[in-house]
Parts: sequence; structure tokens; C-alpha cells
Amino acid sequence: MSRHLKGVDAASWQPDSWQSRPALQQPQYADPAELEQALGQLQALPPLVTSGEVLALKQMIAEAQEGQRFLLQGGDCAEQFADCRSEVITNRLKILLQMSLVLVHGMQKPVVRVGRFAGQYAKPRSADVETRDGITLPSYRGDSVNRPEFTAAARRADPGRLLEAHVHSALTMNFTRALVSDGFADLHHPEYWDLDWMSRSPMGIEYRRMVDEIGQSLRFMETLMGQSVENASRVDFFTSHEALLLHYEQAQTRQVPRRQGWFNLSTHYPWIGMRTAALDGAHVEYFRGIRNPVAVKIGASVDASTMMRLVDALNPDNEAGRLTLITRMGAAKVEQALPPLLDEARREGRKILWVVDPMHGNTESTSSGVKTRRFDNIRAEIERSFELHRAAGTRLGGVHLELTGEDVTECLGGARDLSEHDLARAYRSSVDPRLNYEQSLELALLIAKKSRE
Ligand code: PEP
Ligand code: MN
Repeated sequence: MSRHLKGVDAASWQPDSWQSRPALQQPQYADPAELEQALGQLQALPPLVTSGEVLALKQMIAEAQEGQRFLLQGGDCAEQFADCRSEVITNRLKILLQMSLVLVHGMQKPVVRVGRFAGQYAKPRSADVETRDGITLPSYRGDSVNRPEFTAAARRADPGRLLEAHVHSALTMNFTRALVSDGFADLHHPEYWDLDWMSRSPMGIEYRRMVDEIGQSLRFMETLMGQSVENASRVDFFTSHEALLLHYEQAQTRQVPRRQGWFNLSTHYPWIGMRTAALDGAHVEYFRGIRNPVAVKIGASVDASTMMRLVDALNPDNEAGRLTLITRMGAAKVEQALPPLLDEARREGRKILWVVDPMHGNTESTSSGVKTRRFDNIRAEIERSFELHRAAGTRLGGVHLELTGEDVTECLGGARDLSEHDLARAYRSSVDPRLNYEQSLELALLIAKKSRE
């Protein structure tokens, strides 16, 4: 084990100690008093999750690290306040439940379901400003900061939106929790999760067959036991988001009287994005002090020693369930970039949940300038990752996807072989292109198959 291991130095860490480090990707607020006022209100509001839930998820992640579970994490690139609507939330839950059913069936192990929602409102951008027709304005940074329209008023960073983000997260969470506890996720009724267009989809037939098989097994078990299989009527659902805006995250950081330490209670499972993962940066400083399970995105330019220093900073005690590394290399680079990282982590005996994000290394623009991703590249990065882990003696323990339950046309390919021409039909994402309902289900079927090889 590495010599650098040491616990979080409680004296030097505070929820605001990140403020002495360089904080990238933060909005510039014009009026500090206005920001202070919004943060004061945020701090007084009740949190969205409990420390007990956070620790339960940490235990599940620990089990996934041992190969006893598989993690499915998915949702929009960026949530929008306007999409905080009943149908959108329900459809997203439906596709995630369907995918998890396919994975459970194919892998024969429980799936940890984590939504990329109820707080995914802040986006890192490649440039601080955007210029159109000679006019330069601040970039759109997500609905918790400003609005996408290209006007000075819309692009102003508005602290009031931090409160709105909290409220929309709470509404999303409340409805999701209500659906789950009301039997929506009941395995006895998978027909609740059917989406309108499923009957017209080639994936639908394979999925239906699987659902019938599961229904039969369930009825068989219940006949055998003479009682209903209780756990089949509810599932656990967790939330995650990129903890980008550190003032916001700090205001949601609470000490729980009956437990030691600090928790971020705006989400179960925050992650650090690739652009803000600098070792001496503010995000790593903030994350090292909270007790949540945490994740970091790792791109192809990260070398093994940098990765190990991040691992040491975020999980100095090598605690089970604490750390997830989400690799996002791209199909073209994964072969070269992933193995040295896996070898080093294994040599050092570090407890890591390895997850692949096959979206962000595979983004490209069409000849007409539309941001897209090819299904085949997404698929290739996942399949190659399974193989590279196997060869390295490590384990791919989950996938992180940008998807929606809506019938959008944002990614190319898939069973229906969407073309560049199709993108114009239903491209609705304000940031990155998402897998649509059918492409998501297809991918789940492919992942289940690949994991069995
Ligand atoms: C994202 O997850 O939307 C994102 C910006 O990813 P990354 O940090 O990996 O670039
Ligand atoms: Mn994205």
C-alpha cells in the first residue's frame, strides 16, 4: 500500500477551505451581496437527502467494487428547469428502470441505480465567453447560473437561480421518491414502465420476452414460498450531479449530529468533472472533506502518477465504497490510455469502483456543426473497457451515460441507424447529445451480453 496514506486533516479542512484554492469554472457574480443573500437562504433550507441514505449507497458501491453489484448511472447532460415536468421525470425513470432490469437479468447481480438528476444544473464550458456577430457575452453555464438565450440579460449570472435549482431538484426528487414508493418500480408490474413507442421498436420485442421470463420466475418463487417477494415491489434510487458550483455545494454541506463528519446533502453521490480535477484545485479540496461516496472523471491525458495522487487525496484511508473513477477516454484512445491506470491502481491495492463514461470522449461535430456521438463509438468504448479490465485483473463495475426517456434524435446510429439528416428532427439537448430511449435500451442489452463473455 502507498506510503502517502493519511486521514483527512480535520483541522485544516472546513466546508469553505476550498476558497483558498484556485476554483475553475465558477460564474462571475456582479454583486457579492446578492450572492451572499441567496447562499444564506440556501443554507437555511432543508437538505434533499439524508446521511443514512448516503452511507447506504457507499456500502452498495463497496459491494460493486467487489463485483457483487453493477452501477448504472444516467440522465441528461444538463437538466433544464423547463423539463422539471411529470412526463419527462416519469419517462427518464422508466428507461432507467428498464435498463436496470435488462442488466439484472443479464448479469445475474443487483444493479445500483443512480440518476444523473435532481441537481445536474451546472455545466463546465470550454470558453468563458461566446461571440456571435461581433457581440461577446458570457457562456451559458447551466440553468443554475444563467439562461441559454444569447442576450445580455439571459447570460447574466443570477444568484437567485441557485435557489431555483434547489427547488427544482427538490421537486424532481419528491416526485421520483413518490413514484418509487407508490409501486411504480414494482417488478410485478413492469408494464408501468412501458413507453409509448416501445411497441414499434425492434428492441421492444427482445425486452418484452425478458420481462415475461422475469414475471414467470417471480410467480414461481412466490408459489414456492407461499408469499410475495417483498423486495420486488420497491427499488432503491439514488441521485448524483457534478458538484461544480462550490458556493452552492458548500451551502448544502451539513454536519449530522448523530454522525461524525460533514456530508453534502444536496445529492448522494457528487462527482468532479474532468476540467476541475486539478490536484491542488478547489474542487479536490472541497471533496476530500465530505463523507459521501465521490467520483472523479478521468480523461485520456491523465497519467498513472497523477491519478494516484488524486486517489490519495480523495481516499487517503483506502476506505471501501468511497471512491469511483469514471474513465472517459474515447473509443480511439481507450486502448492506450486505460491499461497503465488499471495496472498502477491494482499494484497499489487501491479500492476503486471503475466506471466507464463512453459519452464524453466520443463527442464530435457534424459537417453542419451539430454536436453528436456515434452509437458505434459509444458501444466500442464500453466493450473495449470490459476487455481491458479483464486483461488487467481489474473489474469494470458500472456505466455512466447521458440519456433520456424521450424519443430524441441526438446520437447517430443504433438499431434504427439514425443519420445526420435525422438529427434535425428532434434535437432538444441544450448541451451534449443524449442516447434516446431505444438507443439506451439497446446499449443495456449489449452491456449485459458483453459482461457475460
Ligand atoms: C459531463 O459529464 O457532462 C461532463 C462535462 O463530463 P466531463 O467532465 O467528463 O467532460
Ligand atoms: Mn455532458
